[in-house]
Amino acid sequence: MLPSGDLLSVRQYFFKGAVGGAPSAYIQAGVHGTEVQGTAVCAQLLEQLAGFPREVIRGDLSIIANANPHGLNSKFGEHTIGPFDAGTGLNWNRAYLDLREEARSAHPAELKAQLRERLAEKSGEILARPSSMQRHAMTLQRLAQGADVVLDLHTSARGSRYVYGPGYALEWMALLNAEDFLLLSGRFSGSLDEAISCPFLAQEQFFPPELRSHMPFGLTVELGGQEFVSAREALEDARGILALLAARGCLDLPLPRMERSFHCAPEGQLRAVPAPCGGLFEYHLAPGAWVSKGESLGAMLRLDGPLPRWEPLFSPFSGRILVQFPSAIVSEGIELCKILCDPERRSISYTS
Ligand SMILES: [Zn+2]
Repeated sequence: MLPSGDLLSVRQYFFKGAVGGAPSAYIQAGVHGTEVQGTAVCAQLLEQLAGFPREVIRGDLSIIANANPHGLNSKFGEHTIGPFDAGTGLNWNRAYLDLREEARSAHPAELKAQLRERLAEKSGEILARPSSMQRHAMTLQRLAQGADVVLDLHTSARGSRYVYGPGYALEWMALLNAEDFLLLSGRFSGSLDEAISCPFLAQEQFFPPELRSHMPFGLTVELGGQEFVSAREALEDARGILALLAARGCLDLPLPRMERSFHCAPEGQLRAVPAPCGGLFEYHLAPGAWVSKGESLGAMLRLDGPLPRWEPLFSPFSGRILVQFPSAIVSEGIELCKILCDPERRSISYTS
């Protein structure tokens, strides 16, 4: 409840699946407030789903187009505070519960059911805590836990399209509208994709090979830059999601024969380039560009000498620039950009 006495709520769109036991999906957007392209993608998905015959939606499907009204509404002048709680400064996507040690099974469906039960058991205590962020995360995690496909739609501050997910889901995630895929290591930092995927990553080796394609997965899908929506791009993003849902059996839609080529690397290969000094930074390369070690990333206008002067900044790595700091005004040590170092080029062929 808000100080005004009003109840804060999020709107969930729920489609009941036509086939009992078919794979289910949960999609949320907007947890970080400023990252609004996912909401446009949900709008596009809802429009398309509403036009399908009922039997196309095989498994239960939930969509939350704006999962964090706090984040969307918190403005300071022209800027949306978005990714961080205005009251505490904490990141909205770091409060989900780690369930890696909570259940054990050599069968994915059994482990999925156990995890859902354990979360329900723990939720009462967490929902009674004073932290509104933890209550918010628990409410969303309870909606997501138990789904076979969980998509958390984000953007970076300024960046290209890329996806975090477990390696065992690469065949499906590569259908999304992105060129770069970062494979989770199994470490847990509190994000929703890790909360869903990491318990399965931790026990993957115990599952019989024929059951591994049934392992639920959570993905963080980064859809470009923040504070920006595009209906045209949302259509492409939604097409990728529908293809993923069809391939995983959530939707009964034909998947065309195609080949997808992309870059892929363990998430640890996404490395930050810190600002060597304070100043005003001009980028010479856009997100999505390749950069070689020693090549110019941009130049810093330094104001600390007798006269302002430009100093070039050379890349310490070779790879793909995925994220850039969104303001030209930079402090010493901030992460100027993130580079996916030496990703592997992969391709997957899909047969209809
Ligand atoms: Zn985000």
